[in-house]
Amino acid sequence: MTNPTPPSRTTAFIEQVERYAAHNYHPLPVVLSHGEGAWVTDVEGRRYLDCLAGYSALNFGHGHPRLVARAQEQLHRLTLTSRAFHNDQLGPFAEALAGLTRTEMVLPMNTGAEAVETAIKVSRKWGYRVKGVPEDAATVVVMEGNFHGRTTTIVSFSDDKVARDDYGPYTPGFRSVPYGDADALRAAVDDTTVAVLLEPIQGEGGVVIPPEGFLRDVRGICDDAGALMVADEIQSGLGRTGRTFACDHEDVAPDVYVLGKALGGGLYPVSAIAADAAVLGVITPGSHGSTFGGNPLAAAIGHEVVTMLEEGEVQRHAASLGDHLAERLRPLVTDPEADRGLRAVRVRGLWAGLDVVAAGPSGRELCERLMARGVLAKDTHGSTVRLAPPLVATRDDIDLLVDTLEDALAAED
Ligand SMILES: *Cc1c(COP(=O)(O)O)cnc(C)c1O
Repeated sequence: MTNPTPPSRTTAFIEQVERYAAHNYHPLPVVLSHGEGAWVTDVEGRRYLDCLAGYSALNFGHGHPRLVARAQEQLHRLTLTSRAFHNDQLGPFAEALAGLTRTEMVLPMNTGAEAVETAIKVSRKWGYRVKGVPEDAATVVVMEGNFHGRTTTIVSFSDDKVARDDYGPYTPGFRSVPYGDADALRAAVDDTTVAVLLEPIQGEGGVVIPPEGFLRDVRGICDDAGALMVADEIQSGLGRTGRTFACDHEDVAPDVYVLGKALGGGLYPVSAIAADAAVLGVITPGSHGSTFGGNPLAAAIGHEVVTMLEEGEVQRHAASLGDHLAERLRPLVTDPEADRGLRAVRVRGLWAGLDVVAAGPSGRELCERLMARGVLAKDTHGSTVRLAPPLVATRDDIDLLVDTLEDALAAED
């Protein structure tokens, strides 16, 4: 009798997680065990360039020495106090983040969705207490194609059927307009509008960049309507686009920044909103909270992230590598009817959305081909592949990425 080949370690881990964890994701069949900088290693010892970077939570790469050192130091000192007591880390972090966002104060949470929820609550309360909107009449205008997280309220204003279906009854009070359409936005705001909530670039939507001037238009429409401009910079912010915030590309300052992902350096969930006291001042003791929000470990890591961004080197590197990436991707755009190449490419900083041609491999198939060639990326909405390598990647890494992409697009498999 011949011994059956033992299952590979990869297969064993995948079978285990499929059996014992709910199937709310459809991961590529790779099991990672180590990471350093822009590179990760799987349980078979194969190395990959990580071009998803934890949906931009890993802007500083895996295990950034400065972030790990600061986290380790804090792990040994104090990790959690709850907000029932003060700790010596939150104040310095809050002051630094207010400085980075040029706002007066911050409200720390943990995940991105919680920060979005916080922004919605603050906007509504501001609407009732400051703007004078009649009780329970507040509306928030959002954009079609948005992604702001997974809570019941947030999926209430998503137009992604898979994210939304079967989770009703839905939270009322939201109006949706086409992304990038200033006229539609102007028509949608009225006396009940407390906020316009948008991503300055839609990440999950496929790295969708609005028409030049749109963010300035949103700013003007909000000013005219007396509504808050709330920028969800959870994925677009903190260096990804080559600037500290994506809003910086149009020199626009929103009333409320919503931050997450890279704020925790890829080590820990850290999120926050930042705004002036005229807005965040509506929050009073007991009116909002979180057991873990603003804990000393989160604050220490977040503070180190902010310090690195204050120095500006990360943004400059992302901008220059991004220019190189854009230059190398442009020739891959072919006729939409072709069976090779890409239908369209959008790049801002080190962030690219690639639309595949209909006759070629799907987004998922292209990602599988890339994986087989040592590059990890993820499709979004089937026909778009998002590239978001860690901002610590090198020019050689970017060349390897595009060489591998060319090879994967040309492949017969
Ligand atoms: C990822 C993301 C969120 C949600 O963040 P979580 O930490 O997953 O809750 C919200 N908004 C945007 C723009 C995001 O990219």
